[in-house]
Amino acid sequence: MAGVGTAALTDWIHRFRDVIAEKREWLTELDSAIGDADHGANMSRGMDAVVAKLDAGAPATVDELLKTVGMTLVSSVGGASGPLYGTLFLRMGMTAGPVTELDDTALAASLRAGLDGIVARGRAEAGDKTLFDAMAPAVDALDAAIAGGADLAAATAAAADAAAAGRDATEPLVARKGRASYLGERSAGHLDPGAASVALLFATLAQAAAESS
Ligand code: ADP
Ligand code: MG
Repeated sequence: MAGVGTAALTDWIHRFRDVIAEKREWLTELDSAIGDADHGANMSRGMDAVVAKLDAGAPATVDELLKTVGMTLVSSVGGASGPLYGTLFLRMGMTAGPVTELDDTALAASLRAGLDGIVARGRAEAGDKTLFDAMAPAVDALDAAIAGGADLAAATAAAADAAAAGRDATEPLVARKGRASYLGERSAGHLDPGAASVALLFATLAQAAAESS
């Protein structure tokens, strides 16, 4: 497959909205264990607003599309996850530029820039028990798969697997960032909600890439 165009990216966003709606209660349960029980509601509200915005007028270029997603998340989601997810998509858009399609390396570069934006904003490091712990291994796996010659469908599938493994690895960790860090040792023994939603983000990216290949 040559790359992902605006149609495939829009399909990704729709799939993410749908799975967030489907898993909303689970995300809320995870956040009720170590946070304030709003991650499912936050993400669901944000993605509903994003899809409404895109349905109202489909952006013609990849950067416009991704920036619209980011700005809508920043303005519609409170809490930590709005600015973090918003920054991810805004940085992805800035890095992508005014093109109609991203090839595999351009997609990986935009996701890497998005991850860097999340770090610039939230200062998370590996093992802090945040969404970084799902996203960083996913972006690393994407780069490695592409460098190894995998096509985009296989590379995004590898990224999705790495994100899920990263999510699972947050369970024993003690949170050092965000609201969960207020619990100290009591945050151990639970999955991080943001890492759980990021694993869904990469799972749906892999589905959209497979569908368009
Ligand atoms: P809030 O914590 O404000 O209620 P959410 O519940 O929507 O917001 O999101 C919580 C998630 O945000 C956490 O599970 C964690 O993954 C992520 N998070 C919080 N702080 C940071 C940070 N500084 N860097 C990266 N991710 C963070
Ligand atoms: Mg919360």
